[in-house]
Amino acid sequence: MTAAAALTPLDDPQALIDVLPSVRGRYKPDHPVGPLTWFRVGGKAQVFFRPEDPEDLAHFLRNRPADVPVSILGVGSNTLIRDGGVAGVVIRLSSKAFGSISIDGSRLTAGAAALDATVAKTAAKAGRAGLGFYVGVPGTIGGALRMNAGAHGGDTNQRLVSARVISPDGVLQDLPAADLGLAYRHCALPADWLFVSATFETETGDPEALHAELLAIQSQREQTQPIREKTGGSTFKNPPEDAPHGPSAWKHVHAAGCRGLSVGGAQVSEQHCNFLINTGEADAHDIEQLGETVRERVFRDSGLLLHWEIRRVGRFASGRAVRPAEEILGL
Ligand SMILES: Cc1cc2nc3c(=O)[nH]c(=O)nc-3n(C[C@H](O)[C@H](O)[C@H](O)COP(=O)(O)OP(=O)(O)OC[C@H]3O[C@@H](n4cnc5c(N)ncnc54)[C@H](O)[C@@H]3O)c2cc1C
Repeated sequence: MTAAAALTPLDDPQALIDVLPSVRGRYKPDHPVGPLTWFRVGGKAQVFFRPEDPEDLAHFLRNRPADVPVSILGVGSNTLIRDGGVAGVVIRLSSKAFGSISIDGSRLTAGAAALDATVAKTAAKAGRAGLGFYVGVPGTIGGALRMNAGAHGGDTNQRLVSARVISPDGVLQDLPAADLGLAYRHCALPADWLFVSATFETETGDPEALHAELLAIQSQREQTQPIREKTGGSTFKNPPEDAPHGPSAWKHVHAAGCRGLSVGGAQVSEQHCNFLINTGEADAHDIEQLGETVRERVFRDSGLLLHWEIRRVGRFASGRAVRPAEEILGL
C-alpha cells in the first residue's frame, strides 16, 4: 500500500479540524506534544485543543464526532508520547482557565491545571495542613486525580472530598471522592472522563512548620531522585508485599542488574533505578524499549512481571514498534 493510499481522514489534521465543532478555545493542527512532556521526546498531536473554559470543553465533547479519539495531557510528568504521535484530539487545560486555587474554611479547591506543588505551597502559606506531600509531585491536579498521586505517606485519595468532572458526552458534574475508585496509582473512572477541579479536606496547621515540612520534602527529593533530568518519575508500580525482593520496584530492577542499563539515548538512572532518563539523544522508542527490556530481565531474574506506572500514549513510528515483555517471554 502506498503512503498516500494509507491516509485516512484521521491522518489529515486540517480535515479533522473541519469536522470538529466551533469552539471559543483554539485548535492547532499537527502540534508537537512530545516536547511538552518531562521526557521531551515523542511526536505530534493530530489536533491540539486548548479549551477556553469548562463550558467550552463540555461543548466540544457534546458536539464532536463520536469516532474522533480524544485524550488529555497534564504537564506530562507521567507520560511518554510515542514517536508516531497521537491520532485525534489532544486536550491541554490552560492554567489561566483551569488553574485557580481557593480556600474556604477547611476545604481547598484547585483547578485541574493547577500544579501540585503550587497547591502544597498555597495550602501551607494559608496554614492548611495535609497537602504537603504534593510539593514533590511535579504534575497537575488533573494528573494527580487520574494517577492517585502520592508521596511521603500521603496520597490524593486520603484528602479528596469531591471532583468536578466532565463525562465523555459533555456533562459537567461533581462526584464524591468514593465514585472515583482511587487506589494505588489507579483511578477507576474511565479514561474518557475528564477532571476540571478537585476539592480537598485540610486541617489547621502552623504556616512556618508547614513551610519547613515542604523544604524537608524538597531536600530529600534532591538527594534521592534525578529530579533535574528528563524523566517520567517512577517507571513501574511497586509490586505487592510478598514480591521476591519486597514491595519496591527499584529493588527488583537493581537485583536484575539493570541499574545504569541503556538503550540508545535512554538510561536506567544510576541514582534511582526505577527512573528512566533521556540522556539527551533518546527518542520515545529508546525509552519504551529500555522499559520493556527491564521488565523482561526482572521477570527472568525473579519471576515478577513489573507493571508500567508511566502512561505510554500514541502510535509507534513506522517500523519501530516495541514488543512488550509479555510477548517476548511468551506469557
Ligand atoms: C521527577 C518526578 C517525580 C515524581 N514523583 C512522583 C511521586 O512522588 N508520586 C507520584 O504519585 N507521582 C510522581 N511522579 C509522576 C507524576 O508527577 C504524577 O503521576 C502526576 O500526577 C502526573 O501529573 P501530570 O499533570 O504530569 O499528568 P500527565 O503525565 O500529563 O498525565 C498522566 C495521566 O493523567 C491524565 N490526565 C491529566 N490531566 C487530566 C485531566 N484534567 N482529566 C483527566 N485525566 C487527566 C492523562 O490523560 C494521563 O493518563 C513523578 C514524576 C517525575 C517526573
